[in-house]
Amino acid sequence: VIGLEIVEDVHQVDGVNANVYVLKNGEELTVVDAGMPRNAGKILSYVRRMGEQPSSISTIVLTHCHIDHVGSAYELRKATNAKVAIHAEDADFLAGKRAVPRPKGVAGSLFRAASLFFRFTTFQPDMTLKEGDIVAGLKVIHTPEHTPGSISLVDPKRELIFVGDTLRYSEGKVSGPPERFTMDADQMKLSIKKISELEFDTMLSGHGEPLKPKASERVKEFYASLK
Ligand SMILES: [Zn+2]
Ligand SMILES: [Zn+2]
Repeated sequence: VIGLEIVEDVHQVDGVNANVYVLKNGEELTVVDAGMPRNAGKILSYVRRMGEQPSSISTIVLTHCHIDHVGSAYELRKATNAKVAIHAEDADFLAGKRAVPRPKGVAGSLFRAASLFFRFTTFQPDMTLKEGDIVAGLKVIHTPEHTPGSISLVDPKRELIFVGDTLRYSEGKVSGPPERFTMDADQMKLSIKKISELEFDTMLSGHGEPLKPKASERVKEFYASLK
């Protein structure tokens, strides 16, 4: 198994860390996040297994600028001519114009070590996003802290939300990002609050497993537990 269909026409590609999602809307495909570097081939072979052509990918939306989410974005764009979209506040990091902010201490050193070991091709995104924009049918919710331009994406038709690394569901539990990667706990809470005020049935996070059904109830409970 190299992936699975989570809900109708929404797929998760396995083994590309972080999670990569492929959505089919009519003739067009949208990819949410692009995994670690050198995974474009894996993503495209999954797309072919869906019975689709790589050229059908019209948009690649990145939830934030971390290497495990943008690593294969350049390769994927080159292979497909898709347009790449990222929040305006993360665009300079993707373009390599600024260094990605990272936590202090041990987590920061780990982060730096990882980014020296894994390099990704930096490039200028085709589109920059802001709160309330609609990209490939997905509504942009700005949920900063994990990075300045971290976003969540709402698919109203499917009652589904992509939350990047702002929340995750794994081993039966909803959680925020590991605490050592959080620089501003108050801002993080505000972003989680924003997500907890939305209604959705399925939550897809950058790491971990899909949460459904009634995912927003679980997120509300998680937010309440933070106070
Ligand atoms: Zn991240
Ligand atoms: Zn991540």
